[in-house]
Amino acid sequence: MSGFVQLADSYFEKVVELTKEYVSTPSVSREEKELAGKILSFLNENGIDSFVDDVGNVIGVLKNGDGPTLVFNGHMDTVPPTPEWKKDPYKPTIEEDRLYGLASSDMKGSLAGMVVALLALKEVKSRWRGRVVLTAVVNEEGGTEEPENIRGTYYLCKEGYLSENKADYAVVGEGSVWNREVVGVRIGHNGKLRFVLKVNGIATHSSRPETGINAIYRAIDFINALREMWVASAEIEIPHVSPPMKFKPPLAATIIEAGKKINQVPSECTVYFDRRIVYGEDIEDIRRRIWDLVEEINEAHKRVYAAFLSETGYELHAEVEEYGMNRPAYMLPLDDPKGRRLFDAAIKVVGEATGVKNPPIVYGTGYTDAELLYTMSGIPTILIGAGEMAHCPDEYVNLNRLREAFRSYVGLALELLARQ
Ligand SMILES: [Zn+2]
Repeated sequence: MSGFVQLADSYFEKVVELTKEYVSTPSVSREEKELAGKILSFLNENGIDSFVDDVGNVIGVLKNGDGPTLVFNGHMDTVPPTPEWKKDPYKPTIEEDRLYGLASSDMKGSLAGMVVALLALKEVKSRWRGRVVLTAVVNEEGGTEEPENIRGTYYLCKEGYLSENKADYAVVGEGSVWNREVVGVRIGHNGKLRFVLKVNGIATHSSRPETGINAIYRAIDFINALREMWVASAEIEIPHVSPPMKFKPPLAATIIEAGKKINQVPSECTVYFDRRIVYGEDIEDIRRRIWDLVEEINEAHKRVYAAFLSETGYELHAEVEEYGMNRPAYMLPLDDPKGRRLFDAAIKVVGEATGVKNPPIVYGTGYTDAELLYTMSGIPTILIGAGEMAHCPDEYVNLNRLREAFRSYVGLALELLARQ
């Protein structure tokens, strides 16, 4: 069965070459066209049927008779580089084991690995049967469910290729590196619930603040109560992972906007919050608890300012609005036979690809497309990727991790689609 390591290694130079090419092709979200064109022509030149769909995703299909379908999913877009970069983000350089460049870790290295995996698999068609589908997607970093800003994988599952072409398994190439040491198997990740809180006040001259209601002071009470909710919450233990992992459901205030003039008590304050949903939490329940808390504090403020409000006829409001794409947490369905098969295959293959007998089984705090692939299209999905950092200056991918991830892609396809 094995031998996939040698096969993969004979193609590894190509993976490094493509990673460099992708890094040097800018592809900030919604500007992926040039990179998509390069991936498309590379696949077509190598005899893999490919096309670009209506939103700009590249889809490559390697068909080899009847059998199961495995999807490789990776995003093409990047966040913009930040001013702290000391290296040129678009000029890939290799120093010792590291390939530096924007999105090398998140996730152009792994994406290149997925592209080359198709080539390697094409050479050994006698060893497997079925379909391997590459989905190189747009707008993962910040894309939403809204048509005007649609996330590539959301489109694929809702009305694109994966809505019509049933698949049995998927691998998302987001980083699964454990402790910066070795590629592990990532089986789940947090969901998210982002919201914007708008509280009003009553403006007045700041030399007589008692004649108004300061929206900033009001907002502070809401911020503190939500912070307290986070601090007081119990740690949640993540199932199935090894080594064990537990943490408090993350909640952070991230943006605050208020005030227009130094001499005016502000009548409006807006605060953005990012609450992550841990596996096992019910997103509906968390929503209700937060919305209720906001309501409760607003009622308390109305009591504090009752005299002022009845005298002036003003009202106090606190409104919560959801922000962006809010989704539940993800966990590979281990009680589903296909989910179990994918898990067992991944442990076996990643073990061989890394030389680690029991590869780490990890859970990520960040949200990924794995949740969409499973919730929307019913595809049991695992995460294997070379990335060990994201969205930071002087990002690099460790070439040893990239080799491990690439070997795993080739190995996983041969294992899951093996000819009986
Ligand atoms: Zn990513």
